[in-house]
Amino acid sequence: MTSKGSCGVKMPEIKFTKLFINGSFVDSVSGKTFETRDPRTAEVIAVVAEGDNQDIDLAVKAAREAFDYGKWPRKPGFERGRIMMKFADLIDQHREELAILESLDSGKLLHLNKALDIPAVANYLRYYAGAADKIRGETLKCSGEYQAHTLKEPIGVVGHIIPWNFPSIMFFMKAAPALAAGCTMIVKPAEQTPLTALYYANLSKEAGIPDGVLNVVTGYGPTAGAALSSHMDIDTISFTGSTEVGRQVMEAAARSNLKSVSLELGGKSPLIIFNDADVNMAADLAKNAIFFNKGEICVAGSRVFVQEDIYDEFIKKISESLKTWVVGDPFDPNVNQGPQIDKKQFEKVLRYIEYGKRDGASLLTGGKPCGEKGYFIEPTIFTDVKEDMLIAQDEIFGPVMCLMKFKTIEEAIEKANNTIYGLAAGVVTKDLNTANRVSRSVRAGMIWINCYNAFDQGCPHGGYKMSGFGRDLGMHALEKYLQVKTVITPIYGSPW
Ligand code: NAD
Repeated sequence: MTSKGSCGVKMPEIKFTKLFINGSFVDSVSGKTFETRDPRTAEVIAVVAEGDNQDIDLAVKAAREAFDYGKWPRKPGFERGRIMMKFADLIDQHREELAILESLDSGKLLHLNKALDIPAVANYLRYYAGAADKIRGETLKCSGEYQAHTLKEPIGVVGHIIPWNFPSIMFFMKAAPALAAGCTMIVKPAEQTPLTALYYANLSKEAGIPDGVLNVVTGYGPTAGAALSSHMDIDTISFTGSTEVGRQVMEAAARSNLKSVSLELGGKSPLIIFNDADVNMAADLAKNAIFFNKGEICVAGSRVFVQEDIYDEFIKKISESLKTWVVGDPFDPNVNQGPQIDKKQFEKVLRYIEYGKRDGASLLTGGKPCGEKGYFIEPTIFTDVKEDMLIAQDEIFGPVMCLMKFKTIEEAIEKANNTIYGLAAGVVTKDLNTANRVSRSVRAGMIWINCYNAFDQGCPHGGYKMSGFGRDLGMHALEKYLQVKTVITPIYGSPW
């Protein structure tokens, strides 16, 4: 593992730092602002408008008007789709600048933002653009002299509250299906990563999304976020973030207008590697399952269970493969892992590493911060981890792998399920039956067989247990933003 310096990427001018409400960039009502920082150096990148309940009120009012009286929900689906396609094309045209902004604000790798995140969000828009004119209800033959049909209607005004680990992807996982459904919305990006969200707001206007349909209010969770979840005029909240805050969002929804809620929350996902696995492939997969995006990914394979016959060889291989793993500047194309998002997260990860050592786990590799400034942490692997240790139970959300041994498939399944979470799981084996047994027995929303972190706009993503409920992506996500209305009419004198 080595550290690399900066590599001279030209930084774009930061053009959008105000709230985007009703089609205009505006200051917050309070006039307050907050700083967003570069996780490589902890230096301030930009000062951004800090929205609170007053700004949320204005944004909700704009979204409500756009929903109740505006064209967007009433347009033919293909018209919404056409505008969404244009939005996607604009994102492609601004890919370079968006990718740089995303790296600057979040510490995510620039080359991956360019190759994966930004193209993916354009494709999310295209996927749902194609669905916008295919929303349909059913015709029902009722008992008695009635017939009925259902209408799928947009649910109304949506509040999207999103985290910082995939700022662009999270934005469009939520906004794209809601736009296709004909909803209007307020997006509250994470306070750590407001920059790309504001850039997307500007592109939405250029694409032709009418004023008031897509509003972006930057600000803090307990103020701007809480104002959304407790608002009386929002119809649904789509939240991605921690389990702790997800609970607060649900409570606020229940205490206010009983708006529906979908929650994509934390995880402690197991990766189970069986004796018949190719050990090189398994070590590589395990490494990327946890260290990808510096471990700041909800589905991170943070608990790795290796069957006893290959356990020692697996340890050898993964230690070897980490020798070429580079922690450093996310603008450098040779770097594998950038800095943690902020000081709070950096300190949290280091605290958990200390808990691991204190509780008797053995440090195989890593365990320390690296670099002179910023929030870099070495990829860390603990062996001799016991299931009840804090590091094996709590979501660390950083580059820390807990390695455990197992003997039988039954034991592996039991251990994999020994968590409050149920977001994802991986299984590495050549035996189809083993893969199928694990897939059916592990209680998680996503199972990867001989791969990990594979996503597609068509594949639903979401959790079991305390990882939340509701699904993003796929046609399932569209349903979150639709209501079903049943229309019944009598048929007089029907022979049937
Ligand atoms: P967080 O819960 O602290 O914040 C998420 C969002 O909620 C932010 O926009 C924040 O401002 C807002 N928020 C905070 N307090 C709030 C409140 N009281 N009311 C309303 N909104 C509030 O989470 P985070 O630290 O930004 O992200 C990390 C967490 O997100 C991890 O637990 C991770 O697993 C989870 N996550 C889950 C998924 C998934 O798909 N399941 C994806 C990414 C991240």
